[in-house]
Amino acid sequence: MAAFGRRYLVELPDASVLDCVTRGRRAAIACGDTVAVARTADGQGVIESIAERRSLLYRSDRHRQKLLAANATQVVIVVAPVPAWHEDLVNRCLAAAEHGGLRALIALNKSDLPEFAAAQEALEGHRRLGYPVVPFSAKRDIAPLVAHLKGETSLLVGQSGMGKSTIINALMPGASARIAEISRALDSGRHTTTHARLYHLDATSHVIDSPGLQEFGLHHLEPDELAAAFIEFRPWIGQCRFRNCRHVTEPGCAIAAACKREEIAASRLESYRELVRHREL
Ligand code: GDP
Ligand code: ZN
Repeated sequence: MAAFGRRYLVELPDASVLDCVTRGRRAAIACGDTVAVARTADGQGVIESIAERRSLLYRSDRHRQKLLAANATQVVIVVAPVPAWHEDLVNRCLAAAEHGGLRALIALNKSDLPEFAAAQEALEGHRRLGYPVVPFSAKRDIAPLVAHLKGETSLLVGQSGMGKSTIINALMPGASARIAEISRALDSGRHTTTHARLYHLDATSHVIDSPGLQEFGLHHLEPDELAAAFIEFRPWIGQCRFRNCRHVTEPGCAIAAACKREEIAASRLESYRELVRHREL
C-alpha cells in the first residue's frame, strides 16, 4: 500500500495491514507490488519475495531512480482549467506511460468552472493523438471518472491544486484518513507526504495516488526512447539525415520537418526537446 523509507505497509487478504521490513538491504519494492510476507510479531512482518510485475513506473532525476508504482494498468493525468497546468508535465506523464506500456488518459476536473470550455479546447490535440479526455467535476459528480477506473489499477498524477485530494475523497471517503492514520503511527516525526499510496475502489479497481508530479522525471530514458514515447513521432523515427539525430538542432531532421508541416504539434516537440536538454544538464 505504501513505502516509507525501508518500511512498507502491506495489506493482507483480510484487509488488515502489516508493518513490514525487507530481508535484503537494497530491496526495490514499489507501491502496488504483490509480495509474500512472513509474520514476525503482532502487526509486523518481513517481505520474503515480490511477485512478477505487469508494469513498473520509475521516477528519476540526475542523481537517482526510484520506483514509483508497480502493476498499474493506466496513468490518469489530472488537470483543471484553474490553476493552469504545465503542458510539459502532461507530456512527460504521457511519455512515461507510453514507455511503461500503460494506457493514459487525461482527467479534466472542475467542469463546473467558466474556464472549462477553453481548457477542453486546449486538450483537443491530445485527444486527437488518442488520449481520452474525461471531463468531470470532483465536487459535483465523480461518476464520469469512475467509469474509466473500473477494472484498472490507475496511477493518479497531477500538479497540486488540480483536485487530486478531492477526487480521492469523492472516490473513497475516509480512505485517505485511514492511511494517514496508519502512516502517522509508523512514521512518527518524519514527513510522509512524498509517498505513493494505494487505495481500493472495489475488488478489481485500485488507485495509486502519487505525489510530486515534479518528481516524475524521465532521466532514465535515452533520447531515442524519449522520442519513441511521443507516439506521433514514431512514423518519422529513423528517417532523419543523421542516424543518431536527437531531433533538437540537427539539420535534416524528419521530426522537425513534420512539425513545420504541422503534422506534429510544436508544443509536443518543444516538450520533447526540453526533456532532452534536461538530461544533458
Ligand atoms: P490537490 O492539490 O490536487 O490535492 O487539490 P485539492 O483537492 O486540494 O483541490 C484544490 C482546489 O480545487 C480546492 O479548493 C478544491 O475545493 C477545488 N476543487 C476540486 N475539485 C473541484 C471541482 O470539481 N470544481 C471546483 N470548482 N473546484 C474544485
Ligand atoms: Zn531528427
